[in-house]
Amino acid sequence: MIQLKGIAAASGISIGPVYKLGPEEFMVVSSAITWEDIPLQIQLFEEALIKTRREIIDLQKRISSDMGQEEAQIFDAHLLVLEDRMLIEEVISRLKKEQVNVAYIFSEVLKKYISVFSKIEDEYLKERIADINDVGKRILRNLLGREKKSLADLKGRAVIVAHDLSPSDTVALYKRNVAAFVTDIGGKTSHTAIMAKSLEIPAVVGLEGITAKVASGDILIVDGTTGVVIINPDEGTLKNYEQELIKLKGTTDIFLSAKDLPAVTIDGRTVLINSNIEFPDEVPSAKLHGTEGIGLYRTEFFYMNRKDSPTEEEHYQAYKYVAQEMNGHSVVIRTLDLGGDKFLSQFKIPQEMQPFLGWRAIRFCLARPDIFKLQLRAILRASAHGNLKLMYPMISGIEELWQANKLLNEAKDELRQKGLDFNDKIEVGVMIEVPSAAMTADILAKEADFFSIGTNDLIQYSLAVDRGNEKVAYLYEPAHPAVLRLIKNVIDSAHQAKIKVAMCGEMAGEPSLALILLGLGLDEFSMPPQVIPELKYIIRSVEFKAAQEIARKALEFSTGTEIEEFARNKLAEILK
Ligand code: PEP
Ligand code: MG
Repeated sequence: MIQLKGIAAASGISIGPVYKLGPEEFMVVSSAITWEDIPLQIQLFEEALIKTRREIIDLQKRISSDMGQEEAQIFDAHLLVLEDRMLIEEVISRLKKEQVNVAYIFSEVLKKYISVFSKIEDEYLKERIADINDVGKRILRNLLGREKKSLADLKGRAVIVAHDLSPSDTVALYKRNVAAFVTDIGGKTSHTAIMAKSLEIPAVVGLEGITAKVASGDILIVDGTTGVVIINPDEGTLKNYEQELIKLKGTTDIFLSAKDLPAVTIDGRTVLINSNIEFPDEVPSAKLHGTEGIGLYRTEFFYMNRKDSPTEEEHYQAYKYVAQEMNGHSVVIRTLDLGGDKFLSQFKIPQEMQPFLGWRAIRFCLARPDIFKLQLRAILRASAHGNLKLMYPMISGIEELWQANKLLNEAKDELRQKGLDFNDKIEVGVMIEVPSAAMTADILAKEADFFSIGTNDLIQYSLAVDRGNEKVAYLYEPAHPAVLRLIKNVIDSAHQAKIKVAMCGEMAGEPSLALILLGLGLDEFSMPPQVIPELKYIIRSVEFKAAQEIARKALEFSTGTEIEEFARNKLAEILK
C-alpha cells in the first residue's frame, strides 16, 4: 500500500481499478510486399479509414446524446483529418514506391506530419497535432487490428490516471464509467479541474509521478476532498474508506435537505446561491441541485474544439435557451475570456511568454471589436427572453470599462437599426479578478451595476502564483490575508456605492470559507452546482452576526494557514 498526496481538485471519494490513459506508442515493423500485394494493401488502408470514420461518428453520437452537441463537435476536426487528401495520397504513393506494408508507411507519414507541425509556432497548428495524433493512432490500431483503448468503451467504474487531461478528454469522461481521475500535473483551478467538478467526478491533480507509480488494474482510493490517493490499499484501509463513504452519503443527505430552501441565516440575512456553468446543458443539473440563478456562464467553451467560430445566431440560441430555462432567475453571461490557459484555434494568438499576463479576455475583445460585438449583440438579443446580465472579465481599470461599454452601446445601436428587440437596461457587471481592479473598486463601483469577484485569477495575480502549476500550488491560498483584505475592500466599496457583490471563483464554493465570506458581506455566491446544498445548509445554520465576528477575527491573523484552521474549527463548531 502506498499513500500519496496531491492537490484536491474535485471533492468526493471513489475507489476503483486504475485505467491508465497515456500516449500509446505503436511499434510498427516494416515488411516487404510485392507489386501484386499493393491493391490489397490499399484496400486495407481504405477499410481502416472507413472503420475509423464509423468509430468517430459513433463516438460523436454517444457524446452528443450523453453530453450535448457542442462536446460532440470536438470530433469534427478528427473527421477532417480522415479526409485529408494530401495525407492519403502520400501514403499511397510511398506504398507504391517503397513496397513495404501499409501500416509501416502510414506510421512513417504520421510521424513526419507530427514532426513538421510541431516545429511551426502557431497555436492553431499545434492543436491540429493533437487531432492528427489521435486519429492517426485510431487508424493504425485498425490497420493492425488492435482494440482501441477508449474512455467511451470503459467497462465498469475505473479511476483514470493520466499525465494530463485535455479539455476534450475531460468532456469524454462519461460519468457512468469514471469513478475518479488523477493526473501528474495541474492546479486546483485549472479548467480541467473545473470541468471535473461540473461532471461531479472526484479528482486529484498535480500528483507528480503518479503515472509511473501505478499500472492498469491496481486499486486506487481517491479522496478528492483531501487530495489523498492510496495505491493498492490494505483491507483495513479499504474498510475505513468504505465506512467514510457511507458517512459521506449520510452528510450529503443532510445537506440535500436544504437544497430547495433559501440561503437565509438564523437572524434573517439572505444571500443568493448560484451556479457556474460552461455549457447550456448543465442548466438542468444546476436546477436539480437547488440553484437560484446562473452566476457565471463561461462562454469561451462555446468556441472550443471547433474549427469555426460560433455565429451570432448560435450564440443567441444558446443564451436564449439558458435564459428561458432559468425562467426569470438571473443569468450572468461572461463575455469571451480567452487566453491564459484557454486557447481557441479559430483566433491566431501569438505565443506569449506570460499568457496569463498577456493578450487575454477583455484585452483581446477590445482589440477585436468584430468578435466582441457579435457576442454582445447575441447577449442583448437573448436579454429579451429572460433575466440576463452581462459581465466583462479581467477589467484592470475604469478605462477598459468605458471602452467595453462604448462597444456595447454600438451593439445596441446596431440592433435598434435592425429593429431587433433587447433589454436596453441590461445590467452590466465587472469581474474583479485583477488586484488593480480590487484596489480601485470604489472607482469602478460608480459605473458598474454589480461586481463578481473572480478569485481564481485574483489569487494568482495577488499572490503571484500560477493557478495551473502544481509546483507552486502550496502558495495558492484563498485564505491569505492579502486576498481577504482585497475581498473586503471590494465588498465595502460596492456597498458604499449601493451595488451588489457576487463571487464566482472556486473560493465561493469552499465550505470552510463560507462563514468568512458571509461575514464580510458577500451578497451572492456562485459555484459548481454540486456544492450548493452544503453551502445553503451552512448559511442556514449560522447567525449573520456570528459570521461577521468570524470575518473580523479572521482578518487579525497573519497567515493563510491560521485563517484556514480558524475557519474550519468555527465551521465544525456550528455544524456540530
Ligand atoms: C475566476 O478567475 O475566478 C473566474 C471565475 O474565471 P475563470 O476561472 O474562468 O478564469
Ligand atoms: Mg478568471
